[in-house]
Amino acid sequence: MDDTKNVGGRDRLVRLLLTIVLSIVAVRSLRRGKRLRGLLAGVGALGLGFNATTGYCGVNDALSVDTTSGGDVEIDFEGTDSEERETGPEQSRSSYLTCASCGDPIVPGQRRGPNGQDDIVHDDCL
Ligand SMILES: [Zn+2]
Repeated sequence: MDDTKNVGGRDRLVRLLLTIVLSIVAVRSLRRGKRLRGLLAGVGALGLGFNATTGYCGVNDALSVDTTSGGDVEIDFEGTDSEERETGPEQSRSSYLTCASCGDPIVPGQRRGPNGQDDIVHDDCL
């Protein structure tokens, strides 16, 4: 745990308070013989206590709140982003003319004309 901190400020304070609450719940539950609840509360207290003391949270990490660690859990938000960025221009590009010869889009202002098959191509591709 070096500089992979992604919990701070109010978040950390809330986790600290929850740690205390869960610890109390765990102890009380175990005393009453409710082992499962006591166990769950204890695990929660340990997890949140870990977050609060180290400033690192695996859930934050999984949600890409912090992306410094190259761990097993990696949600590829950047991948979906670039995919959207690629489909955007692609759709608007479909309204452009495409050269039947070289396949490149024909930019407005470029010299173009029909070839022998009545397809629009660049003047240079004729
Ligand atoms: Zn062309």
